[in-house]
Amino acid sequence: MAKMQFKSESKRLLDLMINSIYTHKEIFLREIISNASDAIDKLCFIALTDDKLGMTGSDFKIEIKPDKDARTLTVSDNGIGMDKNDLENNLGTIASSGSFKFKQELSEKEDKQDDIDIIGQFGVGFYSAFMVAKEITVITKKYGSPTAYRWYSAGADGYEIEECEKDSLGTDVIITLKDNTDDENYDEFLEQYRLQSLVRKYSDYIRYPIMMEMKKSRVKEETKDSDKPEYEDYFETETLNSMIPIWQRPKKDVTQEEYDKFYQEKFFAMDKPVKTIVTSVEGVVTYKALLYIPSATPYDYYTKEYKKGLQLYSSGVLITENCEELVPEHFRFVKGIVDTADLSLNISREMLQHDRHLITIAQNLEKKIQRELTAMLSSDRESYEKFFKAFGRQLKYGVVSDYGMHKDELQDLLLFYSSTEKKMTTLAEYVDRMKEEQKYIYFATGENAAAIDALPQTELLRSKGFEMLYCTEDVDEFTLQSLMTYKEKSFRSATNDDLGIENDEQKDEDKKDSTALLTFVKETLGDKVAEVVPSKKLVSHPVCLTAKGGISFEMEKYFNSVQPDSGMKAQRVLELNLGHDAVKTMESLIQTDIDKARKYAEVLYCQALLIAGLPLENPSEYTDLVCSLI
Ligand code: ADP
Repeated sequence: MAKMQFKSESKRLLDLMINSIYTHKEIFLREIISNASDAIDKLCFIALTDDKLGMTGSDFKIEIKPDKDARTLTVSDNGIGMDKNDLENNLGTIASSGSFKFKQELSEKEDKQDDIDIIGQFGVGFYSAFMVAKEITVITKKYGSPTAYRWYSAGADGYEIEECEKDSLGTDVIITLKDNTDDENYDEFLEQYRLQSLVRKYSDYIRYPIMMEMKKSRVKEETKDSDKPEYEDYFETETLNSMIPIWQRPKKDVTQEEYDKFYQEKFFAMDKPVKTIVTSVEGVVTYKALLYIPSATPYDYYTKEYKKGLQLYSSGVLITENCEELVPEHFRFVKGIVDTADLSLNISREMLQHDRHLITIAQNLEKKIQRELTAMLSSDRESYEKFFKAFGRQLKYGVVSDYGMHKDELQDLLLFYSSTEKKMTTLAEYVDRMKEEQKYIYFATGENAAAIDALPQTELLRSKGFEMLYCTEDVDEFTLQSLMTYKEKSFRSATNDDLGIENDEQKDEDKKDSTALLTFVKETLGDKVAEVVPSKKLVSHPVCLTAKGGISFEMEKYFNSVQPDSGMKAQRVLELNLGHDAVKTMESLIQTDIDKARKYAEVLYCQALLIAGLPLENPSEYTDLVCSLI
């Protein structure tokens, strides 16, 4: 029989598993059982509509069978099974969710210690069995397939597939344990009590019975009354797990640790949730929900790969892995499970979207999430800021999207960095601190806080002690624009030419007639600027650029980055600090050396561009110009 090779990325994972020195090898059992449970979920769902199958909910089970003589451990399920294609695609490649993520992380981390940590944190799937197995055989028959198959692999050198006999649907995974070594005793995975405790520890909530034939001991009936009772062995099949899913258990009976563990296993997460929401509702609709707010952004969060949604169960039957309708776009980071008895079981995907119960549940959950976030913001600021760091951007997109429909719901969840507080602040906190004479909520835009600190346009506001909100993400300014006002105060950019305040220190210069200077600079620069004006904002810097009209520099930059030929251009106003030495020198040069004065004007304009973070039209011309003046 031809030996097939594992795909190369699978091989690396496989090598890692085979040579693993990871101390919790026991998790392999959890992975195999979880696959069995998923496979049953699928057939269970089909059974709802296919009467020919002749199976009902209570027929489904997972069986564990240790065989000490053969040193094998078999995990059997009567789930959907696999055909030849599935075996090749699922067990020959890492294409599937859990393992795939594992691989991604793996390629980023090279050293062994990290690898080990990852095994602990992820569901690493089927391959984890190679931590304890020297050979694995899978015998399986798929729903709808006339043929059964046997898949066999002894590790990294490949696998074989052949047809075989199997009467019933489902899968047997037969693990031949590695030989014991001085350090490792693999026989422990043949001990019934060890297996029993592993199932309780990791797989207790699996909704199908996990059964094992247990060898037990009892007093022989005929010696029961004698002084020396004799014992005999007998076998009894026991269900090892309690089968109560974690979301069905009363909150008070579940530890945060259990919730966290479930989150990490179920959603392949590495982080601990920053908030766990457990809710049970009875009334117009009846449902239980277990929701998690992650503390870290999933690596694919802002890509097409990321799918929002909650798992939806109807009376214990998994309806869909990802019911998108249950969470609004702006809370798409929420993970979790909803279980309701109010849905018809054989509801179609299309019908689901319009289901009245589902819509009500979604509305309730949205409100619940909003309330929980608000509560976290006021009672546990540290956690909230951690959350906001991970998903604040999402909330801001939420404000901007759908024509600002969700802004009332979201505006009080926003945080911005404050120039005076030097930390994140809410809009409400800002407004509470506003000075009596302050008309606007000021904001300033730039790459990062340090860059904004250095912006000359912000000098006046700063010197007057006005607080500014820092917009350091491209979506920030759009967010404020979408909000338009907060508590009736409107937002105003620090680069706007009218800040609604006067700078009295510059009154002296203002009184002087500077028309000649301004006209000279405007004529020198031509169309590059729309206007040249004396600055009210500048204190120590000679020049700055401000934008006139509705388009700000940040918007110009943003549009040009997403659509380079958009031709979007803010109207540039060059502000001159008439009290500054460089400007005064230029003014006197107009009389004595007009060429040099023109060079001054060009250089000062370029500097204003640089400070505004805008590209120079001709960098080498600029450096030549500067050199010619040195
Ligand atoms: P994951 O469970 O994260 O998808 P695995 O490596 O554990 O990754 O499994 C890969 C795939 O193999 C599964 O997604 C499933 O399609 C298939 N599979 C594994 N075990 C079984 C089983 N007992 N019955 C049916 N399919 C299975």
